[in-house]
Amino acid sequence: LLNTLMKHEKLESVSHFAAAVSHELRNPMQSIKGFIQLMQAYDYSRDKQLEFHETILDEINSAESLIDDYLIYAKPVYGELDRMSVNDEVCGVLKLLGPYANSLGVELFCHPAESEIYIRGDRQKFRQAMVNIIRNGVESMPEGGEMIARIKVQASKVIVEIADQGVGMTKEEVERLGEPYFSNKIKGTGLGMMVTYSVIHQMKGIIIVNSEKGLGTVFKLVFPRLE
Ligand code: ADP
Ligand code: MG
Repeated sequence: LLNTLMKHEKLESVSHFAAAVSHELRNPMQSIKGFIQLMQAYDYSRDKQLEFHETILDEINSAESLIDDYLIYAKPVYGELDRMSVNDEVCGVLKLLGPYANSLGVELFCHPAESEIYIRGDRQKFRQAMVNIIRNGVESMPEGGEMIARIKVQASKVIVEIADQGVGMTKEEVERLGEPYFSNKIKGTGLGMMVTYSVIHQMKGIIIVNSEKGLGTVFKLVFPRLE
């Protein structure tokens, strides 16, 4: 099944997607189970046990990353479409992720638009899409830095710009964003951007990425504005 998953545009249905997630979760689960059964069956030295614990924790962490990146897709049906305040949603997600970012030396700032503006979409999914962008930004700054979100109105469009001061990407890397399992991280899932791209496209939004190696990245999301 996994091999048949192509780019996000080709993902046929959410249920396929949920099936892929459970498939992916089976690996860490099985490995955790195996190590616990081993420890039950034999009297390992303390050192060996600690080594097993370490592996089990690693596997739990990788299961957790998977869930974090696309939990929302476990929802079997498309959610209701909500009328969302862009200022509230975007700045809300940044506020929520503040402590996580701070713990990694990153400061998050949000500049809302002057007026209230609205877009339409599934609230949960939109939040997940934002979380995945922001998490990548934070992870792209191993030495810390700042991330700034700006919300603007341009005629009938709403623009959300999210900038980091991270490692940046090559043109080739930017082109691969959204492709399932594309990851440059040792423990990456390569699924966060696939979720983000698919959610934003579902909302009739477009994504423009400007990135410069060593300087940082700007994600520009453009949505139709709701009256
Ligand atoms: P993961 O974070 O698990 O690797 P993602 O789908 O979230 O998977 O991201 C895919 C890849 O895109 C990352 O591994 C990284 O190489 C690149 N990437 C995404 N966002 C950024 C960013 N803000 N700065 C630098 N690289 C990024
Ligand atoms: Mg990610």
